[in-house]
Amino acid sequence: MEKIIKNFLVDGEVVLCERHGAGHINETYKVDLNNDGKVKSYILQRVNTQLFTDMDKLMSNISGVTNFLREKIIKEGGNPDRETLTVIKAKDDKDYYFDKETGSSYRMFLFIEDALALQKAEKPEQFKSSAQAFGKFANMLADYDASTLYETIKFFHDTTVRFENFKKAVAFNYQNRAEKIKEEIKFALDREEYASRIVNKIKDGRIPLKVTHNDTKLNNVLFDKDGVSAIAVIDLDTVMPGSILYDFGDSIRFGCNTGAEDEVDLTKVTFSMELFDTYVDGYLSEMGASITKEELSELAFSAILLTYECGIRFLGDYLSGDT
Ligand code: ATP
Ligand code: MG
Repeated sequence: MEKIIKNFLVDGEVVLCERHGAGHINETYKVDLNNDGKVKSYILQRVNTQLFTDMDKLMSNISGVTNFLREKIIKEGGNPDRETLTVIKAKDDKDYYFDKETGSSYRMFLFIEDALALQKAEKPEQFKSSAQAFGKFANMLADYDASTLYETIKFFHDTTVRFENFKKAVAFNYQNRAEKIKEEIKFALDREEYASRIVNKIKDGRIPLKVTHNDTKLNNVLFDKDGVSAIAVIDLDTVMPGSILYDFGDSIRFGCNTGAEDEVDLTKVTFSMELFDTYVDGYLSEMGASITKEELSELAFSAILLTYECGIRFLGDYLSGDT
């Protein structure tokens, strides 16, 4: 690891390099560098290039967005090293380092000190804080030219494509599984109109193309030591052009579910209106005036849409043979 770290624009002797956090996608390390008795910490990540196949595009998205946020945070008198990710450049001026020996790609960020990643909301205030963090993120990036971002995972929230894929899966009908889930298939097919509603509004310009985070779960927000106030939105791998409705809807989809995502006892799976109100409060309090009338009018629907999207994906996967 020392050899890898030496390829970044950092100084000092490596005094610590250990696995950090509970991420599932990349391999994350905390690195401490001692520079004449002063220790500075960094995050080093071996990127999952099986999932993110184009490092240049991936890091171009992340650098673009974090540099933009950085300037805004400075203007507002905030601390940019703490309130957003800071990419450390490699010595060849790239935003990552490709290690020929192992074929792995690495990147470094400043370590955000005295911060916590929560795996699960214990109190509604924490859910509200995450809503504020994502609302602020969307608001600050509302005037970012999202057309300059790369679509690093194609058709991620293109629900019309997702719906077409679902119909193909129904036709494929692996081991005649459709027999067992007739009702569920009918439920999904009956709601075809959902699939194109937002996509079409983006296409004809009624809903603006904006920066979308696409992974708005709780542990992608760093909290202050008090465990209540949010500091920064992290994990920007899935930042892509899209609609803020996708992030909002997805947060509601998993955040307001009273059961686990994979709960089999459906009596435990209900929608908490209380948590919905909590999230809306937090989100809109930070959204400011940047949210358009059209976006606002589709906010509640987006929660249905993102749940529907997940449903047809998983049901389609079952019909395709659990691929
Ligand atoms: P996921 O499973 O959410 O996709 P991932 O593998 O993409 O995760 P990250 O979310 O980027 O990894 O980081 C994993 C964890 O490392 C975070 O939850 C957080 O605890 C910690 N972390 C990441 N970046 C920083 C940072 N700049 N400063 C401090 N801690 C960080
Ligand atoms: Mg994460």
